Amino acid sequence: MTVTAPPLLAVRDLTVRYGAAHALRDVTFDVPPNSALAVLGPNGAGKSTLARALSGLVPPVAGTVVFEGRDVTGSTPDAIRRAGLVHLPEGRGVFPSLTVMENLRMATACDRRRRAAAVDRAFEIFPALRERQRQAAGTLSGGEQQMLSLARALMVDPRLVIADELSLGLAPKMVDVVFESLRRARAAGVAVLMIEQFASRALGFADHCLVLQRGRIAWSGGTDEAGPELLSRYLGDATAA
Ligand code: ATP
Repeated sequence: MTVTAPPLLAVRDLTVRYGAAHALRDVTFDVPPNSALAVLGPNGAGKSTLARALSGLVPPVAGTVVFEGRDVTGSTPDAIRRAGLVHLPEGRGVFPSLTVMENLRMATACDRRRRAAAVDRAFEIFPALRERQRQAAGTLSGGEQQMLSLARALMVDPRLVIADELSLGLAPKMVDVVFESLRRARAAGVAVLMIEQFASRALGFADHCLVLQRGRIAWSGGTDEAGPELLSRYLGDATAA
């Protein structure tokens, strides 16, 4: 008998409206523990709305979100974050005038000893940040700031990170830094839901993929089944870079 692990995240019939306009309709999918899901789709398909609904920033009008067996539908962003689901939105989410170390220390409210252990763990995952711990975050490169933002998110020991367009506006070398950072987070046991403009890179990173189109799931499956034909059918050539 094979026993399949229960999903880390189970989304059922999720529906979100902005006024009269449907941004998401009946979206259903699972994220298994320690896996990576790429969410792709053209502009306005509902990708960011999905991220925002999962992290409690917009209330769904229907459907459920169950995280680690707990129904978190309609919970506050803070409660969802504390449950272990962390949303890294577009933009860097670091304090530019504070040092790398101060940024990390501020990311957790736990006592001194546990905080020091969490900072050490962050430095183990991202040795580049240890070297720059006394540097102001605003002087880091874009990719390094994303690395710091991810390190801050990992301070609370999340089970799932939603990475929403982390490579937006970054030079190709810095995009490499972001993907490598996410790879390290995965190696540390964290599942990743990735929204990414570079579709083929996201497919190279993730195990599963779902394509949104006008708020609905148009395609879902393993990334090994998502070839160039799928990318050009749903995304056009521009996003398949
Ligand atoms: P992009 O790739 O351009 O970021 P997306 O796939 O993330 O797009 P969303 O930003 O989720 O798409 O938008 C889904 C739909 O909801 C779009 O039609 C958008 O215009 C609409 N929308 C998004 N935010 C709001 C809002 N605050 N109020 C009203 N409509 C909104």
